[in-house]
Order: sequence, then structure tokens, then C-alpha cells
Amino acid sequence: MLNRRKPQIFGTAVGVFLSFLTLSANAAERPNIVFIFSDDHAVSAVSAYGSSLVETPSIDRIAAGGVRFDRAYVGNAICGPSRATLLTGLHSHANGFYSNEWSGPFNGEQQTLSSLLQGAGYQTAVIGKWHLYSDPVGFDHWDVIDNVFEQGTYYNPAFRSPAGVEETTGYVADLVTEKSIAWLEHAKNEGRPFFLLYNHKTPHRDWLPGPQELRTWDESALVDEPESLFRDLSGLTAARRDARMHIADYITDNDVKLKMGNTLTPEQAALWKQAFAEGNRQFEEASMSEEEELRWKFQRYVKTYIASVQSMDRQIGRLLDYLEAQNLMENTLVLYSSDQGFFLGENGWFDKRWMDEVSSQVPFLMEWRGHIQPGTTSDALVQNIDFAPTLLDAAGVTPKEPMHGVSLLPLFKADPPPWDRDLYYHFYENPGFHGVARHYGVRTQRYKLLYYYQNDEWELFDLVTDPADQVNLYGKPGYTKITQDLKKRLQKLQVQYQVPETDPDVAWYHGPLVRMVEKLMLWL
Ligand code: CA
Repeated sequence: MLNRRKPQIFGTAVGVFLSFLTLSANAAERPNIVFIFSDDHAVSAVSAYGSSLVETPSIDRIAAGGVRFDRAYVGNAICGPSRATLLTGLHSHANGFYSNEWSGPFNGEQQTLSSLLQGAGYQTAVIGKWHLYSDPVGFDHWDVIDNVFEQGTYYNPAFRSPAGVEETTGYVADLVTEKSIAWLEHAKNEGRPFFLLYNHKTPHRDWLPGPQELRTWDESALVDEPESLFRDLSGLTAARRDARMHIADYITDNDVKLKMGNTLTPEQAALWKQAFAEGNRQFEEASMSEEEELRWKFQRYVKTYIASVQSMDRQIGRLLDYLEAQNLMENTLVLYSSDQGFFLGENGWFDKRWMDEVSSQVPFLMEWRGHIQPGTTSDALVQNIDFAPTLLDAAGVTPKEPMHGVSLLPLFKADPPPWDRDLYYHFYENPGFHGVARHYGVRTQRYKLLYYYQNDEWELFDLVTDPADQVNLYGKPGYTKITQDLKKRLQKLQVQYQVPETDPDVAWYHGPLVRMVEKLMLWL
């Protein structure tokens, strides 16, 4: 089974007692910032978090050199909205980017982390995945993955920059890293601090490992199945029963490498065949039961996912090696996180979107030498609304407009403040891929309450006794007072963040269009 760590619910708000040095306003002391940001990387696939699936030695270096946040979450577990929150420090309703599919281009003219840092004299760059259907604003340099869905391809992706669209040859994690190091090579000599958003596409669907992982692919090696791979969902809320998340029904042949995408060069295609062709032949010739087929697809899915993580991790190591070799680590705040987590077979599912722990929790690591004690952990409840305020605080920059998040730097003081806080979550993308119902909810130190407002259904989870969100306690005897309290907390957050009572309109054709594309993907 997946060896997910249980969240540390009790104990001090912060497990770190550190010597935080107050930053002076002296520009010369302002740190460089390198934010390593990946796509759909679940906590259960990071070895610094105790993964039983994969080793991530490079990412783990940041944990070893700094702090590992054990309860970091996003407020809307879907790609574009999470990135809009990173840039604005605001929940989706306040930055206007609710959904990948129907929000339109991100409004970069609003207050953003990049514009504020740029205005304060930072050199700013974003390289890699962007996924906001706009050209980046507030970046001196931008070179982002380009295609119609803003996803790009694992091999030979196109990039978009002010110079136009560039076609490339190579593996995406390698290319993003080469471009990032090339920019750092320039930025390190400019005499001003820099901010680099180093954005990986990996390990987003459709999970294609790099050349080294293809060369060493071992079809016979198996990963452990999660306990809930064969879970019967029939007794659950309609929101869960009706979601189109199941590996058995919705993962495509392209996802599990029964078919090869058409973006590979002949040399790359030969590597792909070397890895997968014999396993595919055996699959096609076998007469599998439904259970065996799910098992086989689960293995292909999770193994290509973790192999993609390894391909990315090696490149992250390359970038960290560069920072070390250039003596930049001493004055660079290095962060690692992802835009959300991912279901790796739990409930029989793949994908994200839910407020469930596996989906809304993210790895979050920060290394800042002289400021954060190496090898420490924090169980403070933190959220991606806090990323921008934290980085601005480190840079000594005050936002002009308030943000929803708060700086996390006080957690590293010798005497950290009490951290009594609830987190707000709101997912809007319905109609949308995977048919996940709109829901909002509150996550407290111990409980999680979700409301599917299209269905008028509630769920309540006790994360101490049930860290994997499996047992809905809503309406069960003994939970009336707890539920009332959680509803009050939820309402309080909606007032605090000024969440509108009605969601934005979605075009009438959106639902049928999404279903058509989903069917097409399964058929192709
Ligand atoms: Ca994502």
C-alpha cells in the first residue's frame, strides 16, 4: 500500500525552533528566490515525506537543508487556479481564475508576486509550465511551455516567449532546467537579487519518463497497491459515485502507454518501444479479468508517474548543483512545492480536484541558510495563499493590496506565534473533466467538512482517526456539535475572504463539450 504519513494533528503548531534573523532593509541582503514548482506531485511520491513508491534525492536535499511542512494545502486543487493563487496570494474568487477550462486568460495586471518583486528591483523570470492562458506579466524574462491547452508535451515541447514560439527537441524537464540555468548564469552577475519561478510540467498526465528512465524501465517490478484500489463507492455521496475518476474506466491507452503519442522523434520512439512494447504485447495476448486489468493499468500508471518524478528530480539536482557551484545557496531562498497533489490509485482513482488529503495536500519545502534550521519539520496548517506573502516578506516588500495569505517567516522565530488557523477550500470546475462536483469546505486542526452545493450533500472526516478521508461522519450520532462548530468556522472563512454567494456563469455548451472530449480521448 501507499505509505502515506499520518498528519501530525496534535503537538505544537510548529516543530521548528529556529533562529530567524530579522532582515534589514538593506537591498544588498535581500535573498535570491528560486521556487521549484512541479505539477500534480503528490506527497506520497516524495521520499522526504516517507514515500514507499520512489526516491527523490534531489528534492530531499531541500528538506535536509531546511524545513519540511507536513500540513501544506492548496485552496483549489486544479492547475491554473493554483498557479494564480501562487502569484496573487488570493483564493480563486478574488483573483478571478476559478477554472482551467472556463476562466479565460489570467489577469496579470492585478497585484502579483512577480510585479511586486520586479517593482522592488528584483530580476524576475518564469521558465516552464505557465498554464494561465496569458503572457506572463511582471517577469523580465519568460519562456513558457506553449500549446493550445497550455500543457505542452513531455518530449519536444514548444515554448512561448516574447520572441515567439520555439520548437525544441528533448525531454521537457531537461529543457526547462537548461533554460533556467542559462538565465541564472546571466542573472547572477547583474548585482541585483533574482526571483526564478522554475516550473516543471512533470509529473502531469500523460506521464512519460525521460530517456534514462525509459532505458532502465523494468516491466516486472511492481509498486504496492493502495488499500482502497478496489473500494466499493456505492454507499458514498452522489458526488463521489458520479465522478469520472476511476482508473478502470477513464484512464486512456495513451496514459498507460498502450499507445504511443505522435510527438516523438524516431530515436525517442525507439526508446519508448524498448520500454513498453513487450509489456504491451503480453497485455494484448493475456485474457485478463476486470480486476487483473485494473491492476495492470494501475501499475503502468503509477510506475510511469514515479519514473517521470525521477526524471524531474535528477534535473532539480542539476539546478541545485549549479546554485551550489556558484556559491549562490548561501543567499538564496529555495522552495519546492506542487500545484496540487494527486490520487495514485486511492479509491481506484487518478487525478486531483478534491479537497481530499491526497489531492489538496502538497509537498512544501523551504531552505534558507542562516534563517531556517536544516532538517526541521513544521505541522502548522499552511496554504498556497501564503506563498506570495512569505516571499515578499523575505524580500522586504509590502503588498499594496492585502492578500489572503500570511507570511510564514514568523514560524521560524525563536519564539513562534500561536498558529490557530482554519483553511478554506473551494473547487468550481463543474462542468469539467472528471465530473467532480463543486464543493467548498473547511479544514481545521482535526476535522474536514465539505459541502457539495450542487447536490446539497455534506461530508465530515475526522483526520485523526481517518487520515485518508474514507469514513463520512456527517449526520452520524455524536457529531452534531462538531458539525455545528465546523459550519460556523466555514461561514466565518467565507465572510473573511468575501466569497461571493453565486459562482460565475459557465457557457451552456461547456458540459457537453467536456464529455465529448473525454469520450474522444478514450476512443483515440
Ligand atoms: Ca497540476
